[in-house]
Amino acid sequence: MHEFDDLMEANRAFAESFDLGGFDGKAHAGIAIVTCMDSRIDPLRMLGLEHGDAKIFRNPGGRVTPQALEALVLGVHLLGVERILVVPHTRCAMASASEAELRVKVGASAGVDASWQSFGVVTDQLEQLREDVVKVRTHPLIGDRATVGGFLYDVDTGLLSQHA
Ligand SMILES: [Zn+2]
Repeated sequence: MHEFDDLMEANRAFAESFDLGGFDGKAHAGIAIVTCMDSRIDPLRMLGLEHGDAKIFRNPGGRVTPQALEALVLGVHLLGVERILVVPHTRCAMASASEAELRVKVGASAGVDASWQSFGVVTDQLEQLREDVVKVRTHPLIGDRATVGGFLYDVDTGLLSQHA
């Protein structure tokens, strides 16, 4: 039961100087971001945003999945979202290996068959980004209620470039 002790201790220190109370759950800058789980991405800081400013949905690859769309619908209608950024990134594992390669790697790590596991690998990252942005723009509950952009984040320079 001690596997999380370091983090629990850090949390107590965090709580001692906690100054983030009193917020509602709205996106105070009106921003929602769909991006990758990659640890090189700091979604708020890369956009000059702060705590409370944005709704953030992360998954492998920064894909517009059904769950991402659920989050965006809630964001647009209940949480103050007016602009949506879909942000995959350079050197993403989900765009640089094939589904088969990932299954082999994960299977080797797990020591059991992983051929049944899907990972949603992307073959053409920019084409996929454009398709994902269309999914948001054409969603019947989002449509033109929010402005949607597709961006690629360069993990080596910190720069975003817009592609959709
Ligand atoms: Zn990634």
